[in-house]
Amino acid sequence: MNPLPQINMFTGGLAETNAYFLKLDNGWLAVDAPEGTAEAVEEYGLTISALVLTHGHWDHIWDAAPIARKFNCPVYYHQADEILCTQPQVMRAYGLPANIEPVATTKFLDQDDTLTLSPYNFKILHIPGHCPGSICLYEQQHGFIFGGDVLFAGGVGRWDLPGGSEEILISGIKQKLLPLPDNVIIYPGHGPETTIGNERKYNPYVR
Ligand SMILES: [Zn+2]
Ligand SMILES: [Zn+2]
Repeated sequence: MNPLPQINMFTGGLAETNAYFLKLDNGWLAVDAPEGTAEAVEEYGLTISALVLTHGHWDHIWDAAPIARKFNCPVYYHQADEILCTQPQVMRAYGLPANIEPVATTKFLDQDDTLTLSPYNFKILHIPGHCPGSICLYEQQHGFIFGGDVLFAGGVGRWDLPGGSEEILISGIKQKLLPLPDNVIIYPGHGPETTIGNERKYNPYVR
């Protein structure tokens, strides 16, 4: 048996966005960085050794730059969201409520890449449609996914923002997520965790 992953969640900002902290052999992985994440990291006393951004929307990258600077850690995201991450002001017309500091990547992640953060190996699934650079991080051996805004408990990511597409989103979920085993846990960018089995059975968008 694999030991259960030690995962802490922080929810912050106007959009109630989830950040996740996963204990690694060496420090902690942070997945996304909504408003308040830098303070939460401080409060929890975590040393962040890697930061992954599931996509470039402002509610997920808000505190990314300060965290990357403080810990001098690698930052990973998909190339299709480079503009959102390096020029966040482009989202000003779509509800961006503040000046967000740009965050550069250390390395782009793409479909079928493996991101090894010992003891975990994440397979990268690129599932656009909510955002062009949306990625899910699938840890096959331990059976969990950091999903960002792709698939939620009973819902899917909105597709009405720039670069969004309902068709591409739904087909990506059907091709890349739903074939995974029932008991794989999804930790989404908003709302509670769920499982692949639950969503395949009950999610009205992808049934
Ligand atoms: Zn989003
Ligand atoms: Zn979001």
